Amino acid sequence: MSIGSGDLDEFMDGVRRRSPGETEFHQAVQEVAATILPYIADKPAYRDAMILERMTEPDRTISFRVTWQDDAGNVRVNRGYRVQFNNSIGPYKGGIRFHPSVTQSVLKFLGFEQTFKNSLTQLPMGGGKGGADFNPKGKSNAEIMRFCQAFMTELVKYVGPDIDVPAGDIGVGGREIGFMFGQYKRTTNRFNGVLTGKGREFGGSLLRPEATGYGAVYMLEDMLHTKNDAIEGKKAIISGSGNVATHAAEKIIHRGGTVLTLSDSAGFIYDKDGITLERLQWIKDLKEKRRGRISEYATEFGAEYHEGLQPWSIPCDVALPCATQNEINGEEAATLIKNGCIAVSEGANMPTTIDGINHYLSARILYAPSKAANAGGVATSGLEMSQNAAHISWKEEELSKLLRDIMHNIHAACVEYGSEKGGYVDYMKGANIAGFRKVADAMLAFGAI
Ligand code: NDP
Repeated sequence: MSIGSGDLDEFMDGVRRRSPGETEFHQAVQEVAATILPYIADKPAYRDAMILERMTEPDRTISFRVTWQDDAGNVRVNRGYRVQFNNSIGPYKGGIRFHPSVTQSVLKFLGFEQTFKNSLTQLPMGGGKGGADFNPKGKSNAEIMRFCQAFMTELVKYVGPDIDVPAGDIGVGGREIGFMFGQYKRTTNRFNGVLTGKGREFGGSLLRPEATGYGAVYMLEDMLHTKNDAIEGKKAIISGSGNVATHAAEKIIHRGGTVLTLSDSAGFIYDKDGITLERLQWIKDLKEKRRGRISEYATEFGAEYHEGLQPWSIPCDVALPCATQNEINGEEAATLIKNGCIAVSEGANMPTTIDGINHYLSARILYAPSKAANAGGVATSGLEMSQNAAHISWKEEELSKLLRDIMHNIHAACVEYGSEKGGYVDYMKGANIAGFRKVADAMLAFGAI
C-alpha cells in the first residue's frame, strides 16, 4: 500500500484536528499509520483499546523559557521543549536538538519516531525528544555554555536516569552534553546516567559517537547481502558533515566503498576521487574544532563545491541522507533512481518526503527508513545507560559486537514483518510493524491509561 491512499484519511483527519498545523508530525504519523492500519485491521484487541490513537498522542509536551546572556551582556530568550512521548517499555529516551527550525511539531515527529526506533533495538527505552530554537552557529564557547546551563536549569525538573534520559542530536554534541551534565550535577548533587553521549571521563560509552553512522552502514550492508551484493566497490553519496554523516562515510570507506559527497546547510562538495580517511579526519576537525564550512574542503583539496545545492543529482550506487528531515523530495528520489541508485539507508530522521518514499517503494529499491537505519545511535545510548547503572565500562570489542548484532536483529525484524510476495522486502512496513508490536502489547497489559 502506498502512503497517502484513501484508507488513511479518516485516521489522519483526527490527528490533524488534535494537532493543527504540525505538518512534520502529521507526516511521521501518516508514514506509520499507512502500514499499521492494515496490520491491525484483523486484530480487534489493538483497535478496541485505541492503541494507535493513544500512540499518536504524546504522554506530555513540556515547553519552557530559556533566558541567557550573550557575550555582549544582552539578555536573550529562546524556547525549550521536552516531548515525553511514550514510556511503555522504558524511560523516555531521545536526543536534544538545538536549531532555529525547532518547533513543537518537529519534536513531536522526532519523539513519535523515537518510540518505534527504541522498540526496534529491543532495549528497554521509551520515546522522547527535546530541544530549543537556539542557533549555535556563530556563538562563542562561553555563550554555548551559558545557554546549555540555562536550558538544563529548567530541564532538570523533568529528567532522571529512570524517568527520561536525553542525548545529542543536531547542534548538540559532546561539548553541549558536557555543559548540560555539569549543570545537572551542580543542581541536583547527583552523578548518574541522566544523559548519554557523555565524555569518556564521566560515564560516556566507547563507540557512542560512531554508532549512528556505523549502524546506518551496517543496515545498508545487510540489505545488500540479501541481493548477494556488498558495499565494496560501491559509489556512495552522503549528505551532512556532522556526527552521523562523517561516521557513515568512515564505515563506507572501511568497507571498500567510495564516498563522493558530503554537505552542510550551505552546499555540497563532490570529490570525484573519493574522500579518503585522512581527508575525512580533516573534515571532522573542521566541523568539531574550527566549526568551519564544508566549502573549505573544496578550496583545500581542489574538489567541486556546489553552493546552495544538495548532492542527489550525482550518479551513485547507494545514498545515505544524514543531514536533516525532508532533504529528499519526490523529484530528487526519482533522480536518484534514474541515475542507478540501488539502495538508500537513512542516517537522518525522516530525510525523505512521503512522495520520495513512494518513488523508492514503486521502484522496489532497497530502502531502510530512519527508524531502522539510524537506531544504532540510541541502541548504544541504551548500552551507555546499562554501563552507568552497573558502574562499569565495556570494552570497544564488546560494544562493537553488540552494535553489529543489534543492527542484524533490526534488519531481521524488518524482513520478518516486511517481506512480500515475490521476495521484495518493504523495510518501512517491517520496521513500523516490528516497532509497533512491543509498545502496543505493553500498552495492552497496562489497561486504559
Ligand atoms: P550534527 O549537528 O552533527 O550535523 C548536522 C549536519 O546536517 C550538518 O552538516 C548540518 O549543516 C546539516 N544540516 C542541519 N540542518 C540542515 C538543514 N536544515 N539543511 C541542510 N543541512 C542541514 O547532527 P547529527 O549528525 O547528529 O544529526 C544529523 C541527523 O541524524 C538528524 O536528522 C538527526 O536527528 C539524526 N540522528 C542523529 C543521531 C545521533 O546520534 N547524533 C541519532 C539518530 C538520528 P550545518 O552545519 O550547516 O548546519
